[in-house]
Amino acid sequence: MAGSHDSFRPYVSFLLPCYNESAVLPETYRRVKAVGDSLGRPYEIVLVNDGSTDDTLDRMIELSRDDRAVTAIDLSRNHGHQLALSAGLHYCTGERILIMDADLQDPPELLPGMLALMDEGADVVYAQRRSRPGDSIPKRVACSVFYRFLSKLTEVPIPVDTGDFRLISRRVLDIILQMPERHRFIRGMVSWVGFRQTPILYDRDGRFAGKTKYPFWRLMRLALDGIVASSVRPLAVASWAGLLFAACSLALLGYILWSWLFVGKTPQGWASLMMVVTVMGSIQLFVLGIIGQYLGRMHEQVRARPIFIVRDVFRKDRLSEGDDHQIIQRRAVERTEEETG
Ligand code: UDP
Ligand code: MG
Repeated sequence: MAGSHDSFRPYVSFLLPCYNESAVLPETYRRVKAVGDSLGRPYEIVLVNDGSTDDTLDRMIELSRDDRAVTAIDLSRNHGHQLALSAGLHYCTGERILIMDADLQDPPELLPGMLALMDEGADVVYAQRRSRPGDSIPKRVACSVFYRFLSKLTEVPIPVDTGDFRLISRRVLDIILQMPERHRFIRGMVSWVGFRQTPILYDRDGRFAGKTKYPFWRLMRLALDGIVASSVRPLAVASWAGLLFAACSLALLGYILWSWLFVGKTPQGWASLMMVVTVMGSIQLFVLGIIGQYLGRMHEQVRARPIFIVRDVFRKDRLSEGDDHQIIQRRAVERTEEETG
């Protein structure tokens, strides 16, 4: 796609969502820049400010003023990591897109290796964690269990121990941009696309500075989104539970009939009755909850609001040599269908 008439199409887009990353941004920029410069081909750095409350945005604007390669996208409020990523993907113009965290837990230095694998025919090169010394043990265990559980649930396997850190080709990006779901689980969506997807192993460092934006409950929500977005199998729980309990009640019926006929009286008891009532009640609520998870997401999907809102996009004019740093966009509502439809 990079025809000679379009010399401004970058070879690689670095995409980094940032939420209160002021402390790491200068160092991240320095390392990403070094990797970009070493490529010897045009590249761009797309930074998304996901409603930070510190001075992340100011730093981004500064970078976009000093460096033609930087695009700074400011979202209207905090949208969450997955939506910040989605927003950024709309603005990536490169042939290949490197999705990475802003906190340097994902080393940009892995890029040359990833590019080489893509040259060999892969459309997605996902970074798989060989180890993650930077994360706490409970988090490591929880993530490990979750990834394995998820890979059992989904029709299209999602590789284990893999975050969103990955290099994707333009054609994979174009397909992702056509997916209108609002509860997005990017790694699952990318896996679903198919083509040739290859892992590259790495050791995940700790955060360079600042603290994680994924406290326990937020990880839980991501896990739930991951499951509900990638699989409808949990809905089958109701059917299986129904079958199981039908079998149990038949056995119980048999027992009651037997004692009525041969012992002369039916079993009595508050305890057994209460047990059946509470067990059945909780199973029913649990199943209802699962259905609710899907229904709620359907409701939000049907309501079809824009999935993210961009306030401003800052970038230096790439076509002119002049010094005109500009806001290239103000008040824009982005919607996946509009963009691609
Ligand atoms: N992030 C974001 N919006 C959020 C939360 C996180 O854009 O609401 C970004 C964050 O700035 C970082 C990346 O998502 O670049 C991953 O977040 P974090 O490092 O806190 O997660 P962890 O590595 O601890 O799972
Ligand atoms: Mg991190």
